[in-house]
Amino acid sequence: MSRIAYVNGQYVPHRHAAVHVEDRGYQFADGVYEVIAVRDGRLVDLAPHFDRLDRSLGELDIGAPMPHASMSFILKEVVRRNRVTDGVVYLQITRGVAPRDHQFPTDTTAAMVVTARNAIPKMAQREAGIGVISTSDIRWKRCDIKTISLLPNVLAKQKAVEAGAYEAWQVDDDGYVTEGSATNAWIVTKDGEIITRQADEAILSGVTRLAVMALAERDGITLIERPFSLEEAKAAKEAFLTSTTSNVMPVIEIDGSPIGNGHPGTTTRSVSELYERFANSD
Ligand code: PMP
Repeated sequence: MSRIAYVNGQYVPHRHAAVHVEDRGYQFADGVYEVIAVRDGRLVDLAPHFDRLDRSLGELDIGAPMPHASMSFILKEVVRRNRVTDGVVYLQITRGVAPRDHQFPTDTTAAMVVTARNAIPKMAQREAGIGVISTSDIRWKRCDIKTISLLPNVLAKQKAVEAGAYEAWQVDDDGYVTEGSATNAWIVTKDGEIITRQADEAILSGVTRLAVMALAERDGITLIERPFSLEEAKAAKEAFLTSTTSNVMPVIEIDGSPIGNGHPGTTTRSVSELYERFANSD
């Protein structure tokens, strides 16, 4: 079966899907994106993805190309046409096509691309836990915007892969963990409290992070939003990371040192179960 992509008003074969050479996303990374999970053919937790998309577009003063209802239709149609049952749908909106000039063009409309694919759930890694490395956070000061400008994240992830790790936890100039290259970072204290950095401009406010926060609080797990240092993370009882594609993933090693007893912990397991139940029924 050939894959289909949505590009600026048309459903086209994936291999022919292309944007203009003067698309500002291509030339300036002047655009934003969302990755939404698909489970059993359904889009998981779509509303907060639209909230975040609106916020990212607003911060960059890019006009939405269409209302949510139309976007939602296209997302579902791309999922359907590609027969995605369990995987992801990717949505990218750029400022559009214009002669190359840094300032915003005055007469262009936003360009929109949607792709979808099946993905194998990361069951084995979720069961066994994964390792992360630390790396210096070399990104800009507006990491709260979900921009397609991801080169520092790409470099961080590549460093992790070359080190045989799953993810890189980025550390700011004060020694605090901000987040992973494409995931939010969490630790569990000796008292079973879960800690994640507050959603300031140093991190992307993950949709999975928001869901986990709400689910944990409802379940009576104490949640604290504050910065934690790399040192504190290494000495934590448990650690985990969250994202649309990783879900709740136990972290059992940071820079080669085991976290807790070196196995996924009980609080992480509880949080993961809460999230799975939510995502499977949403
Ligand atoms: N932080 C960064 C930098 C990311 O790229 C992502 C994934 N897009 C996340 C956190 C997790 O966000 P979400 O839970 O919405 O996938």
